Amino acid sequence: MSQENISIIKNYDSSKISWLKSGGPISQFIKIKNLDDLKKNTQIASNQNIISIGNFSNLLIKDKGFNGIAIKLGGDFAKIKFENDIIVVGSAVLDNYFSKYCYQNSIQGYEFLFTIPGTVGGNIYMNAGCYGKEIKDYLISVIFYDMKSKEVKEEKIENLDFTYRRGFQKKNTIILYGKFKKISGNKTKIKKQMELYEQNRNDTQPQRVNCCGSIFKNPPNHNAWKLIKLSLDESFYEGPIRLSKKHSNFFENDPNISADKVIKFIETIKSKVNQKYQIILDQELIIV
Ligand SMILES: Cc1cc2nc3c(=O)[nH]c(=O)nc-3n(C[C@H](O)[C@H](O)[C@H](O)COP(=O)(O)OP(=O)(O)OC[C@H]3O[C@@H](n4cnc5c(N)ncnc54)[C@H](O)[C@@H]3O)c2cc1C
Repeated sequence: MSQENISIIKNYDSSKISWLKSGGPISQFIKIKNLDDLKKNTQIASNQNIISIGNFSNLLIKDKGFNGIAIKLGGDFAKIKFENDIIVVGSAVLDNYFSKYCYQNSIQGYEFLFTIPGTVGGNIYMNAGCYGKEIKDYLISVIFYDMKSKEVKEEKIENLDFTYRRGFQKKNTIILYGKFKKISGNKTKIKKQMELYEQNRNDTQPQRVNCCGSIFKNPPNHNAWKLIKLSLDESFYEGPIRLSKKHSNFFENDPNISADKVIKFIETIKSKVNQKYQIILDQELIIV
């Protein structure tokens, strides 16, 4: 293990990489390129809080900051390879890249990922999905690092309890790779499907804004955006922290605003919806 491979940044400003462009500092931010780096760093850090971060598209650090180590995988974990009829995808691979890679290799099913701005690790953690598809539909197994036993382990999807926006969330683990189904398809159809999804996004959701995707999960038999729209007045669509007029479950915030104020805003929305409909909205956004 070479020390040069490790790069530690102290007091890292999370708003620099957060899709919301908000968030407090991370006391130690470490880029990890391979398994040896990971083992060494998690060993040193065994008494500390450790969090893995992907593309920061669904994550907000409170203003007081995260006192611990945030691990950002790259290097070996940013690769895709084929093993017979299986695709092995590193956690750090971006959804959009994975989707395009599948298109180039005439593999169908991953078109929906074209429009999600996360990483495969973040997807597996969240069980990300859209357009009626979820990551669990194509996942065969999760390869993860168990920080307690210090071993790399593999768990098959049938032994995991993935539900709506809740995937592999075992404590003290870091997701390293996902093994995925390789289903051959027609390249033209795959491309067409990707374009349709992209067009749908552009038509229904705000683009190039500071947001985290959907703020809340859809409650059973309801659309969160509708409940929000019908519970709030126009003032929630104005000001530095504001909802999108195009999609009420999305932010369109100014950059560099207080994360705690964003959290307070979320609580107010929850309370308004609960007052009107007696439904408690559950956040999709992960707050640390
Ligand atoms: C514009 C926009 C549109 C979006 N649309 C959708 C959508 O249609 N569907 C959808 O499901 N989501 C959507 N999202 C939310 C987000 O992209 C997904 O939740 C995505 O899966 C998060 O991936 P990430 O890499 O950004 O994870 P992060 O935001 O970095 O992290 C999210 C959680 O995953 C954990 N995590 C990340 N990597 C690892 C790892 N390697 N090991 C262990 N834990 C890890 C983090 O600790 C954190 O708890 C959208 C977000 C934006 C900004």
